[in-house]
Amino acid sequence: MMRQDKLDLIIEGGWVIDGLGGARRRADVGVAGDRVAAIGDLADAEAVRRVDARGKIVAPGFIDVHGHDDLMFVEKPGLEWKTSQGITTVVVGNCGVSGAPAPLPGNTAAALALLGETPLFADMQAYFDELRAQQPMINVAALVGHANLRLAVMADPTLTPTADEQQAMQRMLADALEAGAVGFSTGLAYQPGGAAQQAELEGLAQVAAAHGALHTSHIRNEGDEVEAAVDEVLSVGRNSGCATVLSHHKCMMPRNWGKSRATLANIDRARAQGVEVALDIYPYPGSSTILIPERAEIIDDIRITWSTPHPECSGEYLSDIAARWGCDKTTAAQRLCPAGAIYFAMDEAEVRRIFQHECCMVGSDGLPNDAHPHPRLWGSFTRVLGRYVREAELLTLEAAVAKMTSLPARVFGLAGRGQLSVGAWADIVVFDADTVADRATWEAPTLASTGIEQVLVNGRQVFPPQADGGRPGQILHRTPQGGKAPASQAAARTLATPEAPDSIQ
Ligand SMILES: [Zn+2]
Repeated sequence: MMRQDKLDLIIEGGWVIDGLGGARRRADVGVAGDRVAAIGDLADAEAVRRVDARGKIVAPGFIDVHGHDDLMFVEKPGLEWKTSQGITTVVVGNCGVSGAPAPLPGNTAAALALLGETPLFADMQAYFDELRAQQPMINVAALVGHANLRLAVMADPTLTPTADEQQAMQRMLADALEAGAVGFSTGLAYQPGGAAQQAELEGLAQVAAAHGALHTSHIRNEGDEVEAAVDEVLSVGRNSGCATVLSHHKCMMPRNWGKSRATLANIDRARAQGVEVALDIYPYPGSSTILIPERAEIIDDIRITWSTPHPECSGEYLSDIAARWGCDKTTAAQRLCPAGAIYFAMDEAEVRRIFQHECCMVGSDGLPNDAHPHPRLWGSFTRVLGRYVREAELLTLEAAVAKMTSLPARVFGLAGRGQLSVGAWADIVVFDADTVADRATWEAPTLASTGIEQVLVNGRQVFPPQADGGRPGQILHRTPQGGKAPASQAAARTLATPEAPDSIQ
């Protein structure tokens, strides 16, 4: 019946959700090596190990499309904030900043501090070599940061690139894509990315499109100018033919709440014209990034997540710090920098509306290097399952799982991921739909979720952590939509192998 007659693992009696949107069904899931080998009644099959999943959901592992864990694979390789919420794949290198390439001497950018302490790598090849040497705990797909490209090439990254500098960035991007990056990201709200004009972005996006890669964008403005900022990034996608993802889409500050009706309609128009567009959100009404003193008087609630000169202020509100120091909030913010902050300026109802859009995925945007991080780091995916599905019934469990599995696998071109089917990679999460919930809060942001029972990456258990479990993650490359994987890609090769076990269905 099987290529090998004994399975390594049978997950028995659970409700299987395929990740493709199909209704759950009672079935056993058999794993052989790193693949799903059988789905069905496996009562008579032999297995090295059996796991009782009666009453539980068995689903594809979640894909976090928006991570900043680039350097954490080196610094904190256990990645418990991912595995404990069922995440088996993360896309890193978002918001214009990535683990490579390193800046020219003297060049730097505040947002790079979000990534960690490890020196950046010379190029993506060196970064991937290090990841392979470290063995990633979960699967990782990497974007190259636009800010990194500017800092690595431009003598003065606050300017528009010269023709030579533009060429050099495009060559560096091509090298990164050929090394295995799935695309590039922009952080147009930060410097030096914010100095980029449309021509620069389109030049880079054309290179990405020619490589079948995509681009993601932390757009230029998520407040008063959000509509124009969405339009800008859609134009880059339209004019270059490069698939586009709008990162952590939101409309900040009460006077802008409701503008997502217009931005989502604009996205729908672009999609109708054939532009490949998707977006992601994290399921919280507060955002988090570096502390920006200009925001101090505009946004009422700002909470400090880290501060280099004042580490003792992590977790405190800016208004409390300013009161204690006897100064205004802008002055306090200036004294705290370099620092990070959480900004409470979003409308939960709007976050939920954006989430329900058919091409909206989930990205944690977690910042694991923060002393007092935003709780999205530990709780985004379980929060969707607990609050958005079970409590608010915004959509069915099957539809929510699809948003966190097959949809991102399709958008990022991750072949054989994001679905439970025979021959697919055995990235699997077992959870209790009645109890799954986030526990991380604004006050206690590093509490692990409840209800996640077991997580497998490429057939091996990563949660609960095992002392001798090893680190089974892989570096993932992109197979563009509708395209064929290059012959060198193991995923495509194995899925096409005729002897792939498929007899038990
Ligand atoms: Zn961002």
